[in-house]
Amino acid sequence: MDLLSYTPAHEAFRMRLREFCNTRVTPFVDEWEKNHLVPRSVWQEMGRNGFLCTSVPREYGGMEGDFLYSVIALEEVARTNHYGLDAFLHSDIVTPYIQSYGSSDQKKKYLTGCVTGDIVTAIAMTEPGAGSDLSALASTAVEADGEVVINGSKTFISNAVSCDLVVVAAKDPDEGNPYKAISLYLVEDGTPGFKKGTAFKKLGLHSQDTADLYFTNCRIPVENRLGEKGSGFVKLMKKLQQERLLVALLAVVKADFMLQWTMDYLKNRGSGAPVIEQAAKFSLVETATEIKLGRTFIDKLIMEHMRGEDVAIQTSMAKYWCSDMANRSANTCLDICGDFGMTEKCPIVRTFRDIRAFPIFAGTNEIMKNIVAKQMGF
Ligand SMILES: Cc1cc2nc3c(=O)[nH]c(=O)nc-3n(C[C@H](O)[C@H](O)[C@H](O)COP(=O)(O)OP(=O)(O)OC[C@H]3O[C@@H](n4cnc5c(N)ncnc54)[C@H](O)[C@@H]3O)c2cc1C
Repeated sequence: MDLLSYTPAHEAFRMRLREFCNTRVTPFVDEWEKNHLVPRSVWQEMGRNGFLCTSVPREYGGMEGDFLYSVIALEEVARTNHYGLDAFLHSDIVTPYIQSYGSSDQKKKYLTGCVTGDIVTAIAMTEPGAGSDLSALASTAVEADGEVVINGSKTFISNAVSCDLVVVAAKDPDEGNPYKAISLYLVEDGTPGFKKGTAFKKLGLHSQDTADLYFTNCRIPVENRLGEKGSGFVKLMKKLQQERLLVALLAVVKADFMLQWTMDYLKNRGSGAPVIEQAAKFSLVETATEIKLGRTFIDKLIMEHMRGEDVAIQTSMAKYWCSDMANRSANTCLDICGDFGMTEKCPIVRTFRDIRAFPIFAGTNEIMKNIVAKQMGF
């Protein structure tokens, strides 16, 4: 029995999105990979068709769907075997900050655009000197006379080139406690003093624009602060459960994609192809078993997350284990493909490159283990 119960409405949504991906995404992925960018028109098409920000309330143009719509949206886009259309980051990681913590005016101003794809979002925590340890943030936000002046720089920000709105974490330089010093601010593209870098040339995720962001005396109205001053660190921690759960899910979906592709390849190579040795069969069985285990764990966590339970510790376990598992699966599948697995014609070469980032972002796997070890009393 499947742990997750999808309704006919969920299934219809999946079919519509699959059809969209088949016609409007997959045929263009190679071009986006080459250009290191997904055109804005695709975000807008996604939005017009109701595939972005599915949890946003109806009053802001969303469909007010449950978390299973987010799961489906992630799964279907992931199956197109690219990572540029970072819709789950926009829909289910960044926009929820505005949904949960935004004032009524902020929600009115931004949420509708997030749903339509006219506003693409990013979240900027990481800095050249602050990755795993957010308390080391050096970007400052000084509030005075109804304005906030932000100074500092951010690095490795997903959607950095294409974003219209960034949730920025910055510190009050006068607050001695680093955890109480962080606040979150909404900064719009085009604000004087806010500059975007150019997209990095990365090992993988070629169609996704990851870049630096710079803030030099960047002035925004104080109304653009998300929630109370000094509440940023707690807000970031609260939202990490969903972020890590989605990355773990993504890892399992990618592993399954590689396994299915490899099995099809082996079965359809024709009679001249090398025989699949017993060892390769066993490797495939082991990979299939790991994927099943990962998926079962994730589905359980999805159910608990939907019930509003605190599963932060288990989500940390899932994030590290599933992202490592996906990388193990990639190695196995490429080994089995032999020399073909060294060529760009082999689709799982791209997956292999892309998933290398999964143990790093959303909190590194070492940090995930630190979180779990702490809960275990170490
Ligand atoms: C493709 C990509 C997209 C990203 N997108 C975003 C984004 O949209 N927004 C954003 O804010 N950031 C983003 N990041 C940044 C990401 O969150 C950081 O890379 C991550 O938090 C790790 O920080 P770091 O790279 O500075 O590594 P560091 O923190 O310097 O760590 C280096 C190594 O030391 C280990 N380490 C560090 N501290 C400990 C410890 N206490 N115990 C044990 N080991 C430790 C780490 O696990 C790692 O192996 C992205 C990164 C990548 C690669």
